[in-house]
Amino acid sequence: MAETFLSAPARAARPLLTIESGAIADNVATVRSRTTAEVMAVVKADGFGHGIVETARTALRAGATWLGVTSLAEAFVLRRAGFTAPILSWLNAPGADFTAAASAGVHVAVPDRTTLAAVAGLDRGLSVHLHVDTGMSRGGADHNQWAGLCAAARDAERSGRIRVAGVMSHLGRADEPEAADNAASVARFRDAVAVARHAGLRPAVRHLAATAATLTNPAAHFDLVRIGAGLVGIDPSGRTRLRAAMTLTAPLIHVRHVAAGTPVGYRHTWHAPAATTLGLLPLGYADGLPRSASDRAQVLVEGRRCPVAGLISMDQTVLDLGGAEVPAGRQVIVLGPGDQGEPTVADWAGWAGTIEQEIVTRIGRRVARRVVDHEQTREELA
Ligand SMILES: *Cc1c(COP(=O)(O)O)cnc(C)c1O
Repeated sequence: MAETFLSAPARAARPLLTIESGAIADNVATVRSRTTAEVMAVVKADGFGHGIVETARTALRAGATWLGVTSLAEAFVLRRAGFTAPILSWLNAPGADFTAAASAGVHVAVPDRTTLAAVAGLDRGLSVHLHVDTGMSRGGADHNQWAGLCAAARDAERSGRIRVAGVMSHLGRADEPEAADNAASVARFRDAVAVARHAGLRPAVRHLAATAATLTNPAAHFDLVRIGAGLVGIDPSGRTRLRAAMTLTAPLIHVRHVAAGTPVGYRHTWHAPAATTLGLLPLGYADGLPRSASDRAQVLVEGRRCPVAGLISMDQTVLDLGGAEVPAGRQVIVLGPGDQGEPTVADWAGWAGTIEQEIVTRIGRRVARRVVDHEQTREELA
């Protein structure tokens, strides 16, 4: 969400998440250069923390033709924002508002007979994607339920109650392209499509691959690839260099001199090894800095990496400025693409013992957001 109502000085005085839309567009272009399949922009979880509406808009302009989300609530946000592209929502309880989905023209995934009965019972011709499990035992129909689900869907389609637009599944180990499970899952998916066709269904959109399989495994592409992490610069397989789109900055609140041995923060887990200067950053774990990264994390202050001193608190973090006289108000780069030496999302994920997706989806709501193009970012952060 662009914060156009804040003046530049006011923005500089508070934590700010800057999203570079050009990076998202470049990532879509990279994906499109690797496949002939259509591209679904997966913008669940507020566009992986990059803003659902802005990320969807940028991805569609760059050539994505579908939008994908988990909940219907997210799909309705997109429709209300005016997007007319096909939208698929794949994680809904049987009691979800499928009537509203039909009115909004949102496709829904159907993993079982209960959900099928709910959508067919509306008699609205809702477009569904039958969802089959191919080896991760998360979403999707069990192998032994699949033929029955297909037969029931065919009956519902023949009577005009639904339209079976697609068949989908998801890979559990696509981030490890060499794992044999991937080929086994692709084979199971092909079999599942054959079962659907044998039942008399003609699903036009078969889709299995997310970012990692799209970038590493052409056999998984089928008609449509579902790209989430890749939009925002994350390749879960680590094979392709994409462009990070997110930069998190905050001004120093206050700087103090301390003597050697001074304890810092909750539980005094850190003591100044020598006389130093400490800077206070108005960001904490409620803003998305993982507390588990406390004893390893660094940020960029005036072009230098400075370590976090002590435990990251809910709202604030102390930095060891190493004796530098940094004025309060100075902008600190907490994470970004890394071009200026700042830590990356991957650095933070490593420090916290997690994956990049967890870092980008957890930036807190009180951090202001803005979307810029490439040139604007360079200018303002310089
Ligand atoms: C989140 C999700 C995606 C996108 O995966 P990425 O690895 O982030 O590209 C695709 N399909 C399903 C079913 C998902 O839940």
